[in-house]
Amino acid sequence: DDPLLEVEKLSVVFVGLDATLPAVTDVAFGLYPGETLGVVGESGSGKSVSMMSMLGLTPGRVTSGQVRFDGKDLLKMSAEERRKIRGGPIAMVFQDPMSSLNPVQRIGHQLEETLKLHSPELNKAARKERVVELLRIVGVADPEQRVKQYPHQFSGGMRQRVMIAMAIANSPRVLIADEPTTALDVTIQAQVLDVLRKAKDETDAAVILITHDLGVIAEMADRVMVMYAGRVVEAGTVTELFDDPRHPYTKGLLGSALRVSERVERLNSIPGNPPNITHLPTGCSFHPRCSIANGRERCSTETPELIDVGGRWTACHFSDELRGAQS
Ligand code: SF4
Ligand code: MG
Repeated sequence: DDPLLEVEKLSVVFVGLDATLPAVTDVAFGLYPGETLGVVGESGSGKSVSMMSMLGLTPGRVTSGQVRFDGKDLLKMSAEERRKIRGGPIAMVFQDPMSSLNPVQRIGHQLEETLKLHSPELNKAARKERVVELLRIVGVADPEQRVKQYPHQFSGGMRQRVMIAMAIANSPRVLIADEPTTALDVTIQAQVLDVLRKAKDETDAAVILITHDLGVIAEMADRVMVMYAGRVVEAGTVTELFDDPRHPYTKGLLGSALRVSERVERLNSIPGNPPNITHLPTGCSFHPRCSIANGRERCSTETPELIDVGGRWTACHFSDELRGAQS
């Protein structure tokens, strides 16, 4: 199968008064029809920035790269062309639905507006009908009444369901969900993930799921891409990465996850802090925290490329030493 979305060498910088800082460097991946690709990493690792940049939604500046979708390069499109893509063939769900919903407009109206923009063939009656159907798909009870309400009359979990309804309104081919459950209580998280799964089935969209939570990855994703300091450091199927990680950072994340008995927690128990992009370590950005770097000069002088290790990818000079290490 050909990828639906193909990203090559995507680099993004933040331009400040005194400096230009690398937010995303050489990110490359393909998204295949029907799959869910999990993107995992600590905050500031470039997960959101890389996805938003593809759609022209970042405060950063894209300095290189290609994002092929439907035979076109998204990065070469005009702002207007990209607006037509967003919310249409590529739709998004964000962590905080309140920031994406208009507080002074009724839920039904907001959903209708999305349809108006991307599905102009529907008349008013058809739009209203579709809105009720969408709310029913995402499990909002009594949708005929709920369409008349405002966002503050919905709970956090219900608002996130509305956002998912909005995202699938125009039958997207790619659905990008950025920490869709992070702001929610654990029990609600599980429900929203179920809704996301249902939304995916309903539309046949391929999903990019950005998360801190390896539990969410294990439950939802087919493949995973691990990011660190703006780069992809490992990519492969969930089974490959969970059973046999080939990057010390992935191994560290899993180690910290496995220490939590019931549910996997947020990823922050690797010793040391994620690097600040104003002072990225030389060579491999992970070397100050790496358990196997051990003062090796190559780690602090040479940036490892993402290389193919048997159909999966890792960016570590000494990935061979990790083979089978998890067992
Ligand atoms: Fe660790 Fe060196 Fe591999 Fe980087 S290249 S992950 S510092 S062993
Ligand atoms: Mg983010």
